[in-house]
Amino acid sequence: CGIVGYVGDSKSVEVLMGGLRRLEYRGYDSAGIAVIDDNGELTTVKRAGKLAVLSDELAAHPIANGRTGIGHTRWATHGGPTDVNAHPHLGDNGKLALIHNGIIENFAPLRAELLAEGFTFLSETDTEVASVLLGREYQRVGDLAEAFRAVVARLDGAFTLLAVHKDQPGIVVGARRNSPLVIGLGDGENFLGSDVAAFVEYTRRAVAIGQDQIVTITPTSVTVTDFDGVGVETEEFDIAWDASA
Ligand code: GLU
Repeated sequence: CGIVGYVGDSKSVEVLMGGLRRLEYRGYDSAGIAVIDDNGELTTVKRAGKLAVLSDELAAHPIANGRTGIGHTRWATHGGPTDVNAHPHLGDNGKLALIHNGIIENFAPLRAELLAEGFTFLSETDTEVASVLLGREYQRVGDLAEAFRAVVARLDGAFTLLAVHKDQPGIVVGARRNSPLVIGLGDGENFLGSDVAAFVEYTRRAVAIGQDQIVTITPTSVTVTDFDGVGVETEEFDIAWDASA
């Protein structure tokens, strides 16, 4: 339902939680974040319920902050609103975390294919087929953006997907089809959001991502391609925002 991604300074947890708070107005039943800390560890915390449940958990059991992370508020479509079904979902033996807005229509045959290969699933979501598939492709190609291209070619339906991998700290990769995703441009930091509310506290410079495109952000670069990996032109726009809202 709500999506935020961040690469920059060692304050991922604040940026992600602040972004999710700004996206709360959209409605949701669960929330979660995944952060790669400065020691290279990937930590995921997710809870059914209001954002307050997640922030209480983070207050009780603080996680190391980091420069790279993703955050999600879920509106359940496949699998009830439980801690396990909340996003992020994992792949590549827990080295990769992924969040998803939308519905993967062909999740059932993909899940059957992955089960037959010996992969296992923890949740009842359509989303976890994408995280497991992305993990399988990452193991093959060793690059998150390239793995994304192989995965989106297999998915039907509507999706915004964001993922991080602990072996590629300092980047967040996203893809969209029939579901929104916007880039926020910072100074030594960059953002992704399902809408500009996710990062408007930090920047008023944004870039729209077109239909069927993949984006890679690092603290100092933004790369957008089509689903075949061919670079596309992007256009920056200023966010008009009433700060009192
Ligand atoms: N279909 C996914 C799920 O049920 C994502 C729902 C959403 O857009 O929040 O977990």
